[in-house]
Amino acid sequence: MEPNSAQCLCWGCGEQASISRKTCNGCRESLLLHDQYRIVRVLGQNNGITWEGIDEQTRQRVVIKEQSIATLASWKEQELFQREIMVMQKPDRLVL
Ligand SMILES: [Zn+2]
Repeated sequence: MEPNSAQCLCWGCGEQASISRKTCNGCRESLLLHDQYRIVRVLGQNNGITWEGIDEQTRQRVVIKEQSIATLASWKEQELFQREIMVMQKPDRLVL
């Protein structure tokens, strides 16, 4: 099942937003992670969050993984550069 192509998620607060928007209504965060990746849905939450996203430059689907950091009191308090985020090309046969 394809995610709703008209909606994306704010990676900062999890709020849904229209893909035509550049910033989140809720937390004012940019909806484009690293100015490039738009989150479309949460794939899993286990030792950090895994999202499915779209590379806005190549239109490729990507998997974005945020590692949990043990000392993090509140991840919202942390700046982007302190968050450990990995972007991977989505494997062809990703089983969910
Ligand atoms: Zn937000």
